[in-house]
Amino acid sequence: MKPTIIVHGGAGSWDLNSERIQIGMDACRAAALAGQKVLLEGGSALDAVETAVNVLEDCPALDAGKGSYPNANGNIEMDALIMDGRTLNMGAIASVELVQYPISLARRVMTDTKHTFIVGAGASQFADSINFPRCTIADLISDLTTDPNMPNEHASGPIGDTVGAIAIDAEGNIAAATSTGGTRGKMPGRVGDSPLVGSGGYADNHSAGVSATGQGEAIMKLILSKQVCDYVASGLSAQAACDAAIQLLTERTGAEGGLIAIDHRGQVGFAFNTTAMPHAYVVEDGEVVNGR
Ligand code: ASP
Repeated sequence: MKPTIIVHGGAGSWDLNSERIQIGMDACRAAALAGQKVLLEGGSALDAVETAVNVLEDCPALDAGKGSYPNANGNIEMDALIMDGRTLNMGAIASVELVQYPISLARRVMTDTKHTFIVGAGASQFADSINFPRCTIADLISDLTTDPNMPNEHASGPIGDTVGAIAIDAEGNIAAATSTGGTRGKMPGRVGDSPLVGSGGYADNHSAGVSATGQGEAIMKLILSKQVCDYVASGLSAQAACDAAIQLLTERTGAEGGLIAIDHRGQVGFAFNTTAMPHAYVVEDGEVVNGR
């Protein structure tokens, strides 16, 4: 299998002429390159998606880790999901505060606990129990995602620049990762699709790996990432499956969103019905394809 990785920086109402979208695209390129390096050195798909998402979580223009949108109280509560398509093992966290790399904490839930999903104060307690690095709110706030003049024209509230990565490694193992600060100005305690298995992401070596972004309240109604996997299992390519799922999202809910996927044959797909979705992918030792 040709090792392949695709990443996204969120489907939303991006201003195509802004500095912010260029920063987001550059972060996607850097994340794809970081994931490619892991894969070419013989690393697993899981290692590649975690590494790539850590790069995106570091980007102050994207809504994950640093750059996460504050909620209505001005706090930052983050959600993340990682899934291993070989074993179907998964780890998720929601409403977690003061961690810079939520995807890595989600992975520790998968590897270090007998549970799959830990939220809020329990997630903080778990982080401290394993000496997971904590940060301050100042480390997470970014001028680029707290600008009051940002576009904000979604009926169900502003969606963001959630990040995600899908990889397939040389052994044909697929992994998925999604990390977000959620929607801007959300109610405290609100959790979107991103950490929900099947909604914000899914990975199964028998079908595909998928990461979703967009209006979480709608995406979770359709369990959209699993829907893409089911389309692939019924014979569609990753691209056709992403197109069909975005069409379903539009027709059935009227909501906005985006998807990235890699199917079990190693084919890449992505689709969105928003202004833009910064993304990047790279196959084996090829050149990065960077788009928006
Ligand atoms: N899906 C995310 C959420 O609802 C937002 C996004 O993708 O930007 O929390």
